[in-house]
Amino acid sequence: MQRERTLVLIKPGAIQRELIGEIITRFERKGIKIVGLKMLRMTEKLVNEHYAHLREQPFFRDIKLSMMETPVVAIALEGYDIVRRVRTLSGATNPREAAPGTIRGDYSISIRNNVVHASGTIEEALEELQRFFEEGEVFSYQRINVMDFADE
Ligand code: ADP
Repeated sequence: MQRERTLVLIKPGAIQRELIGEIITRFERKGIKIVGLKMLRMTEKLVNEHYAHLREQPFFRDIKLSMMETPVVAIALEGYDIVRRVRTLSGATNPREAAPGTIRGDYSISIRNNVVHASGTIEEALEELQRFFEEGEVFSYQRINVMDFADE
């Protein structure tokens, strides 16, 4: 099976609410392997690239301001079918539709402040990981006594 990687961003709204540990724990508890982790401040250029598909939307300016309010935490995750699985764990974009038990379902309070970003497709994930991580900041390593879904 193809080993995939995906990107999660803990958004400023979640940093303000002190949810960093809680969100990372969700992935660890599910046995998902963390292969990269960093805090960074998004520049206007980075937000423009990352949300290019929303540039014409009336709420784009609000998104931009909210994504630059504090640094974000970028997480690279690896495993079998990881892009789809992490999207499922993250929940729907709109908090009213996000299922209980998902990160957004449990913590998201508004569509603008929906706690996390998770890559939508394998192609998007590749592009986004390159956008947020430098070479050498995403790691390959073996976990002891933990089954990697990548090896299933
Ligand atoms: P997702 O983050 O679930 O992949 P999108 O790529 O469509 O969803 O949107 C990116 C982000 O833009 C969303 O996570 C949300 O924070 C914000 N957003 C989307 N739609 C709206 C909206 N109608 N009003 C305000 N913010 C929105």
